[in-house]
Amino acid sequence: MAKRVKVTRFVCPACGGTLVAVPKALRCTQCGYEKSRAVEPIEPKPRPLEEREAVQELKLFECPSCGATSQSDSVSLLCPYCSTPLVGEFFNPLLPFGVGKIWVDPKKVAGLLKAHIRSLWFAPNAFIKGYQKAKSPKAFYYPVWSFNADVRIYYSGWRGVRHSRIVYVNNQPQTRTTMEWEPVSGVIELMIEDIQQLGYPPLDSSMERLHWNVRKLEAVRKEALSGWEGKEYRYTPLEARRAAQPKFDAKMEWAIRRDIGGDAQRIDGYESEYLSQEFVYFLAPFYHIQIHWRKRRYDFFIDAQSGAVVGERPYSWIKIALFVLFILGGVAALYFLDQWMQTHHHISLGDLL
Ligand SMILES: [Zn+2]
Ligand SMILES: [Zn+2]
Repeated sequence: MAKRVKVTRFVCPACGGTLVAVPKALRCTQCGYEKSRAVEPIEPKPRPLEEREAVQELKLFECPSCGATSQSDSVSLLCPYCSTPLVGEFFNPLLPFGVGKIWVDPKKVAGLLKAHIRSLWFAPNAFIKGYQKAKSPKAFYYPVWSFNADVRIYYSGWRGVRHSRIVYVNNQPQTRTTMEWEPVSGVIELMIEDIQQLGYPPLDSSMERLHWNVRKLEAVRKEALSGWEGKEYRYTPLEARRAAQPKFDAKMEWAIRRDIGGDAQRIDGYESEYLSQEFVYFLAPFYHIQIHWRKRRYDFFIDAQSGAVVGERPYSWIKIALFVLFILGGVAALYFLDQWMQTHHHISLGDLL
């Protein structure tokens, strides 16, 4: 069952089209009319970690432009029949604290993607040109949980210290290096901040590499959602926190290694005691762009705050093979030069370096 939502559409005073959110403004998708929009910056206020329900019910949108109804779990979307940007309502009991401020204008997205693809090593030339065939970007807000924790860690492990000594083999001095291990244990207190976890299934796993600036938020207003497909959390705070555990473990292991010190570290085991845990829930803006190339689809995601681009990309095996040949050719040339110098000048390249 879907529940009807109150639908808001921001009408263009110049042409009757619909206004969509761009950085600091609302812009008409038809005539380009622009008016500034109130962007109220807010400081994130983390709250203690607790479970909150995720409502499963779908939303029923009735489009005021074409009259069609559609069902979705989105808070805001483009009408699937006439593409009119519509803003609905939140159903989940926990509302986002803020939405990430949009910095990247949709007009700049194609340029950012072009620069990114051109910077890729070993990308096929035909693919590099493929960005021109990319469909226009779709704008999204995805729910993100940003977790903080104060944690006390009890660990035990080993510190490796490298020792070098000179030994004589056939009267020639040689350096021998050995690692000596000593047992260590300790207690550390660590503040882990801003571990981010998506609150909604990603469109592609490469999206996990995006990290938004939780300090650049604005208040949640319907205006900011217009033209953007906005999702609410489907993974509850505790589900997302469990999914984020490997990111916490990585931070803790890094802190343990730093605490052990020495030249090498081994961790036998550790226990963690969480002194406090908190989170910020916000909507993170990004653009999604697809390139169809050789019957495959490549998804690129552009962080609408920073302009950072992530995505899967193809490799040109010909370019890689040529590069390997180039390197091997260089090595061979050096070898022959060395041989030639040793025979003719009784000097090796190594003596000159
Ligand atoms: Zn207009
Ligand atoms: Zn419609």
